Amino acid sequence: MVDDAEEFVVGCLALNASYEPLTIVPARRAVRLVLDGKAELLEADGSEPFRSERAELPCPVVIRLVRFVHVPRRFRRQVTNTFLFARDDYCCMYCGRHRSELRGRQFLTRDHILPTSRGGENTWDNVVTSCSSCNNRKGNRLPEEAGLTLQTEPSEPNYVHLVWAVRRVTPAQAKYVAMFYGPDAVEAVLAGASARPVPHGQSSIQA
Ligand SMILES: [Zn+2]
Repeated sequence: MVDDAEEFVVGCLALNASYEPLTIVPARRAVRLVLDGKAELLEADGSEPFRSERAELPCPVVIRLVRFVHVPRRFRRQVTNTFLFARDDYCCMYCGRHRSELRGRQFLTRDHILPTSRGGENTWDNVVTSCSSCNNRKGNRLPEEAGLTLQTEPSEPNYVHLVWAVRRVTPAQAKYVAMFYGPDAVEAVLAGASARPVPHGQSSIQA
């Protein structure tokens, strides 16, 4: 599974056999899956086709796996800072400030609500985006012990929210996401995305 923001640069949306959007894979890997008969090409774009000794294939933007792949839930959407910050709209879940409002050397971090030192796990319902100031203030305490209040109850995000939050989905791919999740979900996410444009590549790595 692709779990690295850099992998999204050249992206082909990979669907399960059930048409569930699974992940974005590099176009070259998508070509390989199609040539190996493991996926079918659903959408291609007009850019330079891929050529090999065996075949020529237009650049894939959406593929569908031929056989259904059961992806264990825990492997599905791992908590990465890229996705975590996207889920929380790039805002500190304690003081509410957006990344653009942080001052000086402040930056976004990953906070474990129940600290790992006290048995807290790295799961979607135990992590939130926190500015470095709130995270330092909280230390190895629970929010209430540090006088902090969570703005929302964290939960595992919907894939479609994540892909739009990191803004890597083309209209051709959006069609398939909408097909699976329904047009309402897409509209809601698009409304959110246009309200707050987010630059790439500014996530900080700090647990
Ligand atoms: Zn904060």
